[in-house]
Amino acid sequence: MTTPAKPRHAPMTQFPVLDGELVIGGKPVSQLAEELGTPFYAYDRAVIAARIASLRATLPAQIKLHYAIKANPLPALVQHMAGRVDGLDVASGGELAVALASGMTAAEISFAGPGKREAELEAAVRAGVLLNVESAREVELLAAISQRLGLPARVAVRVNPDFELKSSGMKMGGGPKPFGVDAEVVPALLRRIGELGLAFEGFHLFAGSQNLRSEAIVEAQQACYALAVRLAADAPAPVRTLNLGGGFGIPYFPGDTPLDLTPIGANLAELVARAQTDLPQAELVIELGRYLVGEAGVYVCRVIDRKVSRGQVFLVCDGGLHHHLAASGNFGQLIRKNYPVIIGNKAAAPATEIASVVGPLCTPLDILADRMELPAAEPGDLVAVYQSGAYGFSASPRDFLGHPQAKEVLV
Ligand SMILES: *Cc1c(COP(=O)(O)O)cnc(C)c1O
Repeated sequence: MTTPAKPRHAPMTQFPVLDGELVIGGKPVSQLAEELGTPFYAYDRAVIAARIASLRATLPAQIKLHYAIKANPLPALVQHMAGRVDGLDVASGGELAVALASGMTAAEISFAGPGKREAELEAAVRAGVLLNVESAREVELLAAISQRLGLPARVAVRVNPDFELKSSGMKMGGGPKPFGVDAEVVPALLRRIGELGLAFEGFHLFAGSQNLRSEAIVEAQQACYALAVRLAADAPAPVRTLNLGGGFGIPYFPGDTPLDLTPIGANLAELVARAQTDLPQAELVIELGRYLVGEAGVYVCRVIDRKVSRGQVFLVCDGGLHHHLAASGNFGQLIRKNYPVIIGNKAAAPATEIASVVGPLCTPLDILADRMELPAAEPGDLVAVYQSGAYGFSASPRDFLGHPQAKEVLV
C-alpha cells in the first residue's frame, strides 16, 4: 500500500503548457509579460466560454444563467459575458453603468445590494432594470421615484431566508443579516408593494458563496424554492422571476475538489417541473460569479529578488497583496492557505526546492505562496497565480504603498 501524495495544488487543467511555458489565451506567459509589462491579470475568453457551455450542458435549458459582475467587472470581460449569459446582476450604480454598456438588454439586468442610494435607485428605474429590494426604505423611495418619472419600478424582493447555506465560504443568508428582507416580514412588504403600485416580479434569494458541496447547494435551492412558493401566496402579482442564487464554488486550495454539477442539474430540473404548477409564470434564475470566471484568470508578477533568510528561500516579486488580496489570504480566509502558484516560464520543470513567494510591501501579510514546492526560480522568472479571474484586481487595495498598478487583459 502506498499513501497517495498530498496534493500540492487545487486541480489546474484549464491552461496548456507549451515548450515549458504556461499558455493563456494562446500566448506564452513570457510573451504576455513582454507585451504588457508585469504585473498583470490575464483572462482567457475561451476558458470562460467553455465553462459556460459545460454548465449549460448540465443544467436544464429552462434555467436562466446570470453573471454576477462583482466577481470581475472588467468592461471587456462583462461584454464577453453579455453575449453568453441570459442576464447580468449588479450591486452598485457603477456596476449598473458597466452592465448597461455591455450590450445586455436592460430588461435582463438586476440590481441587488444593501444601502442603495437614491440616485442609484433612480438610475435603475430609468434604465428599466429589475430592482431586488432589500428594505422597506427602498420600496418607499422607489414609489416616489416611479411617480416622479411616470415609470413603475420593476421590483423583486430579496429575501433573507430563515436557513443558511451549509459549508459555504461566505454565509449571506439566515440569522441577522444586512442583506435582504427577513422572510417573516416579507408578507407585509409585499402588501405595501401592491398598495404602492410597483411592478412586482418575484423573489431573489442568495444563501451564500464558494460552496464545493453539491448536496449543500441542492438543499439550499430546495429550501429557497419552498420559501418562495410560500411567500408567493402574499404577492401582489404572479411571480415571473425566481432567482435561487448560486454559491457554486471553485477549488482554490490543496485537497479541494471541483463541484459536482450533476446532482445540481437534476435538482434544478425537478424544481423547473414543480414550478410549472406552483409558479406557472416564473422563470428560474441562478446567478454565478466566480464559477464562471474564477478559473479563467491568472495573475502574473515577476521575481525581483531571491533571498535566503536563515535557510528559507524567499522569491520577492513586483506584485503581491496590493493587486491580489485574496491570494495573500486576507480576503475572508480564516486560515491562510496557498492558491495554486507556479513559475509560469518553468511550468514543466520539476519542483526542487521549497520557497515562499512574497510581494514588495513592508508587511508580513504580503505573501502569495507560503513555503511551496517550486522549481528553483531566479530574478526575471514569472510567478503565475491560478484561480485569479474573480475577486482579484477589483477586490484589492491597489493604492496601498504606491507601487505601479497591475494591468488587465482579456485574451
Ligand atoms: C457576490 C454575490 C454573487 C456572486 O458570488 P460568487 O461566489 O462569485 O458566485 C451572487 N449573488 C449575490 C447576491 C452576491 O452578493
